[in-house]
Amino acid sequence: MPAQTPPEDPAGDCIFCKIIARELPAFIVDEDEDTLSFMDINPGTRGHALVVPKRHTQDLITAPADDLARTAVAAQRLSARMKEKLGADGVNLLNCCGADAWQTVFHLHIHVIPRYKDDPQRDPLRLPWIPAPGDMDDIKAASEELIA
Ligand code: AMP
Ligand code: ZN
Repeated sequence: MPAQTPPEDPAGDCIFCKIIARELPAFIVDEDEDTLSFMDINPGTRGHALVVPKRHTQDLITAPADDLARTAVAAQRLSARMKEKLGADGVNLLNCCGADAWQTVFHLHIHVIPRYKDDPQRDPLRLPWIPAPGDMDDIKAASEELIA
């Protein structure tokens, strides 16, 4: 039987793995045994940060549940700190899962985005969809597809 080629190391080129390994610089704001949090260098609002599991995993769907849970808890901790230390009025958590859902770095991360009421300087964000009542038949059909 021919020798098998080992699969390419998926984390080999990962910028977040390099930040975790301190091979790339970052403004680190939180760390525990399993997670690291650092500032996003293209912030949506003042204080926008990212929380990542230290173990490389591509995205939300492929993540082992325990890594995802620890990452969520770290995002919770950082959210509280954004209110306490930065004076945020609220916080959005965002995850992009897949290139078609805006994911650009393929190491699971949760965006922690502090929000500031009536402060376009620190917070220019707007909801990316216009809330409007949906078609009830289609909402029902989608729910049925999800549970089929
Ligand atoms: P996403 O588009 O959800 O995959 O988010 C990736 C995020 O990583 C973007 O908001 C980028 O601004 C951010 N980012 C990319 N490279 C770095 C870096 N070296 N340090 C900090 N944030 C980064
Ligand atoms: Zn990685």
